[in-house]
Amino acid sequence: MTEQPVLEVTGLVKHYQTGSRLGGARSVVRAVDGVDLTIGRGEILGLVGESGSGKSTVGKCVSRLTTPTSGTVKLLGRDISTLTRGQMRPFRNDVHVVFQDPFSSLNPRMTVGQIVMEPLRQHGHGNRRERIGTAAEMLERTGLSHDIRSRYPHELSGGQRQRVALARALVLGPSLVVADEPVSALDVSVQASILNVILDLQADMGFSCLFITHDLSVVEFISDRIAVMYLGKIMETTTRGELFRDPQHPYTQSLLSAAPVADPAGVRNRDRIILSGDLPSPSEPVTGCPFHSRCPIAIEKCVTDVPPLAGITAPDHLTACHLVTAESGAPDISAPINSMGGTPSVHNAS
Ligand code: SF4
Repeated sequence: MTEQPVLEVTGLVKHYQTGSRLGGARSVVRAVDGVDLTIGRGEILGLVGESGSGKSTVGKCVSRLTTPTSGTVKLLGRDISTLTRGQMRPFRNDVHVVFQDPFSSLNPRMTVGQIVMEPLRQHGHGNRRERIGTAAEMLERTGLSHDIRSRYPHELSGGQRQRVALARALVLGPSLVVADEPVSALDVSVQASILNVILDLQADMGFSCLFITHDLSVVEFISDRIAVMYLGKIMETTTRGELFRDPQHPYTQSLLSAAPVADPAGVRNRDRIILSGDLPSPSEPVTGCPFHSRCPIAIEKCVTDVPPLAGITAPDHLTACHLVTAESGAPDISAPINSMGGTPSVHNAS
């Protein structure tokens, strides 16, 4: 019997109505438009995409900071997508969020010790003495010294604040952590230490993690599996090794080709595919493949038919592209075959 996943998202949709009640044009922003995801026990799934792709909205729906328009979000087998705030309360033990900006996510009037104790107090864990002990232990596990408990958030560095945010998110021992760009606001040297703390704590505590980022080097470092998002949909998902070794979707190929690489010798003969244009607005209705307006190899079918996310070349490597086939694998996007989509500019990395 296969183990029950910690998180199972099916057909997730989140649309926002925009426009003025005083006569302005109304429109629907399709932030998330039919996302399926699964995260196993102790697994880190990296969700990567450009700004505006809908990845943070997926995180908000999964952690029920917002209510999905439709679809199901199962946490440990129980559908939480339609629960009210009160009904959601018992599940708050099991899912916690770490935000991008630790400063705005920490209460400036509370000391670090109070901040980390607060979830324990709200969920009725132990007496005050026990809560102080548990919070101190959690802070220590994130690498913070004993004396930090009496300080306020404004007295801490960005890295220290994010460690406090981690301690608060993990103090109840959640099954799932949603980390939304947790290192994007930090200096590069601090980023590495925070990522290592997350990996150490994850190995130690065994929580699952939805790690949301736009940074390919971060997602490569931390993820077990990766899902690539574009305009509210998943374009490709597979293991970290497979995605970087054999990206199949044209969007993933272009993302990876444009990413900076630390080893210049390794990219000497690599073509960089620079896509034309920006991510289309999620308020503009799109037919067919969401990527067709920028895809250098789009064909007529791409404009009319939505490609299903399917394991075309392997059961655990899902891709949503009409031109990925079991026989030939990934299409070559450096050689456009027609002009239905965008025209890439191809640069040799040397
Ligand atoms: Fe989408 Fe077509 Fe390009 Fe595949 S070839 S990514 S289906 S536009």
